Amino acid sequence: MPTYSYRCTECETAFDIQQAFTEDSLTVCPTCGGVLRKVFSAVGVSFSGSGFYRNDSRSTTSSSSPSTPSTPAPAAAPAAAPASTSATPAAS
Ligand SMILES: [Zn+2]
Repeated sequence: MPTYSYRCTECETAFDIQQAFTEDSLTVCPTCGGVLRKVFSAVGVSFSGSGFYRNDSRSTTSSSSPSTPSTPAPAAAPAAAPASTSATPAAS
């Protein structure tokens, strides 16, 4: 059950009270009958979501380590080399 903080606008009385989500907010000061204001504390609420975008910049760093090298494959055995066997003159 969440705890809400209230502060009176008339007598500056501040107090915390546990209320369910379905309960109505308090509007009347129990001390002086003035108007209560709900105080939203910054402790339980965190909007510090600015770090999400910094962690998502890894798509640019992945290109620094390519998994497939772009160097061409080494040529196979040179097929143009003259075969020594065919160069021998045929004995007639
Ligand atoms: Zn009050």
